[in-house]
Amino acid sequence: MRILLWFRNDLRLHDHEPLHRALAQNAEIIPVYCFDPRQFSQTSFGFPKTGVYRAQFLLESVSDLQASLQTKGSDLVVRHGKPEDEIPIIAKALQVDAVYWHEEVTSEELAVDAALEKQLTQLKISYEVYWGATLYHPDDLPFEISQLPKVFTAFRKKVEKSSSVYPAFVAPTKLSPLPTIEPGRLPTLASLGLDNKTPEPRGVLSFKGGETSALQRLQHYFWNVDKLRVYEQTRNGMLGADYSSKFSPWLALGCLSPRRIYEEVGAYEAKRVKNDSTYWLIFELLWRDFFRFICAKHGDTVFYPSGLRGLQVDWKQDWQRFEQWTRGETGYPLVDANMRELVTTGFMSNRGRQNVASFLTKNLGIDWRMGAEWFESLLIDYDVCSNWGNWNYTAGVGNDARGFRYFNIPKQSKDYDPDGKYVKHWLPELAKVPRKKIHSPWKLDADEQKRCNVTIGVDYPNPVVDLDKSVRRNEAIYNAAMEIRR
Ligand SMILES: Cc1cc2nc3c(=O)[nH]c(=O)nc-3n(C[C@H](O)[C@H](O)[C@H](O)COP(=O)(O)OP(=O)(O)OC[C@H]3O[C@@H](n4cnc5c(N)ncnc54)[C@H](O)[C@@H]3O)c2cc1C
Repeated sequence: MRILLWFRNDLRLHDHEPLHRALAQNAEIIPVYCFDPRQFSQTSFGFPKTGVYRAQFLLESVSDLQASLQTKGSDLVVRHGKPEDEIPIIAKALQVDAVYWHEEVTSEELAVDAALEKQLTQLKISYEVYWGATLYHPDDLPFEISQLPKVFTAFRKKVEKSSSVYPAFVAPTKLSPLPTIEPGRLPTLASLGLDNKTPEPRGVLSFKGGETSALQRLQHYFWNVDKLRVYEQTRNGMLGADYSSKFSPWLALGCLSPRRIYEEVGAYEAKRVKNDSTYWLIFELLWRDFFRFICAKHGDTVFYPSGLRGLQVDWKQDWQRFEQWTRGETGYPLVDANMRELVTTGFMSNRGRQNVASFLTKNLGIDWRMGAEWFESLLIDYDVCSNWGNWNYTAGVGNDARGFRYFNIPKQSKDYDPDGKYVKHWLPELAKVPRKKIHSPWKLDADEQKRCNVTIGVDYPNPVVDLDKSVRRNEAIYNAAMEIRR
């Protein structure tokens, strides 16, 4: 029995059901990864679909998978091309009996699956598709995905009451060698059409792709620095490596399985402490599950301007304002610092993401899909369901029925960055601004500006909109859409 394993967003050997099932049949396995050129094209608004940060992380992750497979006696076959073209070629050449892979839920990925399935059917090669991205398996949910509750809290309560998490599959220790085949070579950033970036020392973490680094990060965060103990209190931070787990990039590419994290939390609770923080990390993983199930249930609507809710808000596509937002030049330090962090590192905290997304949609009234695609391009942890799902919710076109909600930027700044340390980290031109005015630098008078060595309107922009007026204007537009829907 010879089985081709197609790796995609599951770049790991632990908790890998297709691998486990193939080995359980004593099959010879052929691991394959395809660099799909469509993933390196452009988004609909013209941004690189996979920007340099994620591309680098992906290259490291695939390379790590290849090294792990080699250590165990096998190897990774790497191809550049569409999976639906490349996989049938290998499958035919090596006369494989079956192809196994992990299921995805969104349209681009499903189209690839369908095309591949068609090719394999024509070749009379069987295939099996497994679910492996979430903490809870759909078979274990207390409802069909078509009956998924609309609101997260209802989903969480039902799952917590009635479902359990499967044990993670153990990684194999030894694998059979590959038959004769040209393994292929990993691309470089340049061959993917991307320029190298010098690592930014101000970033939260020097992220390195791959299962090996993922497991090291788990070990570090839980056991070495013992930060899981205080996660609930620190998770809204914005500065430094350990205010939150930073598992997201590894989860997004499947270098780390959520079930592996779950089991490690269990071990931590048994050996160190079980408290609100250990619960809260799992709670956050449930958000991740929720968005994946939402996308599985609702199909393409998550990408429509009207979102899951079907709300026809009159969004603007104002490129001048949008670019001020992307460059971190809105005149609101919290928004600007976060946007500059994103563009220079590929990461932004959850607190930051919620604020900048709220500002784009509720203060600037700009088409939320432009923001979602900007994130898609830049985020090192881009995950189609988490990104588009969260943007639906912050833009007010998600499933939650609470109407026009927005983040009060000055209040958020004071609550989460009281001394302005985060803002000064990314906006050095404001380094000398006193605590009292760091979140409202437009209030500095001429003498203060001199003393702080900054000229507002020259070194740092004046606010691009009035916060209150812009919120009221966009609330009226949003409410008009709600009226039409009623
Ligand atoms: C507009 C917007 C866009 C986002 N885009 C993405 C994205 O593309 N990819 C992504 O992984 N997360 C996304 N998030 C969710 C969240 O911001 C990140 O998961 C989190 O900041 C990652 O940091 P962490 O791993 O340290 O999180 P932690 O606080 O340590 O949380 C642990 C894990 O729980 C999951 N998680 C936490 N919060 C959320 C959430 N709100 N939604 C879904 N999963 C969550 C993540 O997998 C995370 O790694 C987005 C949030 C917003 C508001």
